[in-house]
Amino acid sequence: MKPEYINNKLIIPKPECGCDYHIMPETNLYIGDGLIKKAPEYIKEHIKGSKCVLVTDDNLYGLFGKKITGILSQEFDLSVCIPPSKGALKPNTDALGYIMMEVELDTDFLIAFGSGTINDLTRYAAANMGVPFASIGTAASMDGYVSVISPMLKGNLKINKPAGYPVVGIYDLEIIRTAPAEMVFAGFGDVIGKYIAKADWILGSYIIDEHVCPYCIELVDSALDLCESNLVEIQNRTSKGIKALLEALLLTGLAMLVNTNSRPAASNEHNMGHYWEMMKLAQGKTHPSHGEAVGIATLYCLDFYKKLLAMENLSIESGNLPWDTYNPDIREKIILEKYGLIVGRSIIDGNPGEPVSKDERLRRANVFVAKLSEIRSALSFLPSRSKIESYYIKLQAPLSAESIGIEHNLLKDALLYAKDYRDRYNVFKTAEELGVLETIVDSII
Ligand SMILES: [Zn+2]
Ligand SMILES: [Zn+2]
Repeated sequence: MKPEYINNKLIIPKPECGCDYHIMPETNLYIGDGLIKKAPEYIKEHIKGSKCVLVTDDNLYGLFGKKITGILSQEFDLSVCIPPSKGALKPNTDALGYIMMEVELDTDFLIAFGSGTINDLTRYAAANMGVPFASIGTAASMDGYVSVISPMLKGNLKINKPAGYPVVGIYDLEIIRTAPAEMVFAGFGDVIGKYIAKADWILGSYIIDEHVCPYCIELVDSALDLCESNLVEIQNRTSKGIKALLEALLLTGLAMLVNTNSRPAASNEHNMGHYWEMMKLAQGKTHPSHGEAVGIATLYCLDFYKKLLAMENLSIESGNLPWDTYNPDIREKIILEKYGLIVGRSIIDGNPGEPVSKDERLRRANVFVAKLSEIRSALSFLPSRSKIESYYIKLQAPLSAESIGIEHNLLKDALLYAKDYRDRYNVFKTAEELGVLETIVDSII
């Protein structure tokens, strides 16, 4: 699939996959050098009104505040909202409350000027105020620019709140290229994680009959190809490289919009990243960025897939399988212990279909064994860990959980329990169904 550009506007072809549930998002995304000057024109074309609030953080305001407010205030009745924070801004109740109190009722629209956190806060605030928002991106660091979900923090609990996507997205490569190198790796890692998301989705189609949309898979494949075929350009942070990375992130974001959920772009590699973030927050420590965590988790998921798909002579005799985690009381105890009381309770309440019944578990395990050779060939696109590591080495990125501050026990717990974060099917659930989860985890760490 080749997206087109018309006057810097990214256009994806209409889906012809026949799925009856798709939504074509009405979001207008512009990518190019020096586009910030055109921000008022792009915004006016798609959003009515003049009274607007620019939401940003201290650091970005210091770097670009003068320039951007100068450009926007020529056309709009603009005010600026910078939620105060100690250290990096977090998408928490303090920051959200601050924005809601700063923005006046007769505001026509909001503008997010930033990357992940700023967009998540602005998207949620705008949705609750019933006003549209525009997004002016500052880094190619995550795929959430066009998301309809705001991952927010309620205490240490990461919760995904429904919100809206930006009506206009403006990505000035001259600004985005200046983002720190670790944000480039974060974006790259978030895209590379799609290998696992794609594999788990296809695996789900074999085991639990999930519907897989070929159009969304094509969007994800295009994103992976953009990153891999422009690796050197991304490494050198050229305009071409950063454009490819950003386009890849937007394409996977669009895949989620079209599919009306994050299935095309997030699975257990994201669960692991969320797990690390929540556990670090609970300890009052800093955590790796979203994309960095996803990129590193992907390495372990690739190892995990390799081991599972190579297994021979799996025996699915009811009497030989461990059953503890299929007992709701035991499962509840484990989840409360591993996630803590508040997060754990919300996981248990949020996934009422888990654990699956004993019969269903046996059915799934038997399907896997029966279809193993078909599954192996359907997932033969999965790269080796060493291939992905060779990309990370070029980007001078971290290569292990330890190198992003994740200790051995947090790595092991994520590999064993991140799969329970949501009921979305993934290969770690397959391994548990087969009774080989702990064996594989022990063999890869
Ligand atoms: Zn992501
Ligand atoms: Zn489809």
